[in-house]
Amino acid sequence: MTRGLVVVCCLMAATACGGGSEPAAPTMSMNAIAEQYVKLVLGMGEHDSAYVDAYYGPPEWKAEADKGQRPLADLDADAARLIEALGKINSFPAPGNTSEQLDRDRQMSHLRHDYLRRQLEALRSRVRMLSGAKLSFDEESQALYDAVAPSHPDSYFQGMLDDLDRRLPGKGPLVDRTEAFRKQFVVARDRLGKVFDLAIAECRRRTMPHLQLPETESFTVEYVTGKSWSGYNWYHGSYRSVIQVNTDLPIFIDRAIDLACHEGYPGHHVYNALLEKNLTRDRDWPEFSVYALFSPQSLIAEGTANYGIEVAFSDAERRAFERDVLFPAAALNPARVDEYYDFHDLIDRLSYAGNEAARRYLNGEIDRQTAVQWLTRFALMSPERAEQRIRFFDDYRSYVINYNLGKDLVKQFIESRGGTDANPDKRWEEFIRLLGSPRLPSGLRQ
Ligand SMILES: [Zn+2]
Repeated sequence: MTRGLVVVCCLMAATACGGGSEPAAPTMSMNAIAEQYVKLVLGMGEHDSAYVDAYYGPPEWKAEADKGQRPLADLDADAARLIEALGKINSFPAPGNTSEQLDRDRQMSHLRHDYLRRQLEALRSRVRMLSGAKLSFDEESQALYDAVAPSHPDSYFQGMLDDLDRRLPGKGPLVDRTEAFRKQFVVARDRLGKVFDLAIAECRRRTMPHLQLPETESFTVEYVTGKSWSGYNWYHGSYRSVIQVNTDLPIFIDRAIDLACHEGYPGHHVYNALLEKNLTRDRDWPEFSVYALFSPQSLIAEGTANYGIEVAFSDAERRAFERDVLFPAAALNPARVDEYYDFHDLIDRLSYAGNEAARRYLNGEIDRQTAVQWLTRFALMSPERAEQRIRFFDDYRSYVINYNLGKDLVKQFIESRGGTDANPDKRWEEFIRLLGSPRLPSGLRQ
């Protein structure tokens, strides 16, 4: 296969190029390192079709990558050199008693430096995986997403199941009763578009007063089938996204606001748009023109997208909007909103059961069939939904932790800065600041 010669030459011109006899590398600028990082991520995309989630940088960089696969070993060696080059840029003055803006710029430079190093390390780990290395679930999530999800024994989930069992009337297995209950809250296919449009408009109305984006920002929604995910935001740059909603399985009413917030406002669409505005354009940091899916950035992306639902709506506000607008639009009985969301809140507590199933399945402790049964029993998924989730495990592996652990870490981070239920304005401020910063998952614990 053909190598991307231009990429190799650019990198070698700026750093020591393996082999040991070359002169000492000159110090690279952060932007030179960042540009090479972008090209490496594009190079990874030639080996791994899901790797490049978004790219809106110079088209010629992509065209160069498309000329042919570079060997994984070369990409890895270049990433190692970039990490070494980053190590030579380590003299950031500590924040001090200077102007607030200067301190902020220094902090952002620190975050940027740590971010680039960690993104490059994750890229190297993905190279190892594509080269055949077998990592355990927790090793993989640490390497790719800079975080490890807690483990829970079956008894942890059983307590929640017992609680649900007491609350859901009827006879028969709990999963069957759960499914029968949920089926009463399916949004009919011919009403989906209307319901989603209303949810998106409300999420946007609540989000936009808290940030500044060009008026041209927008996205379109498409309905698709045959996917292992339930929704996806494809960011195209220039503040535009395409959001796809998978209609393979019945869509329950709670998904309208979940997807509208998660994929749109203030979730992925806003996150990507703020990175483009604040970092790629205003600061001229090219690394944010590419989004490597299997990288620490994804925990921040998914965590903020999930937590954004709570930022946009208090529980009472959400229930009121569902009662007044979405339930009627879906031809569901508005008098049942509280009944449905009380149940939904309980089911939500089982979210870590999905991680547990993925961990055991991907570690080879249980087979596919057992994983489906386990998800059915402990996550109360229908067999069809459990099958879809296993396909997601096959495709995206330990990525699953980014949703619930990501949300918990983001929530804890925002609340530790005063962004609590009692102070929603502060919560918005901290949330928007996080969306537009290159913070790592490990940095959320600080
Ligand atoms: Zn997402």
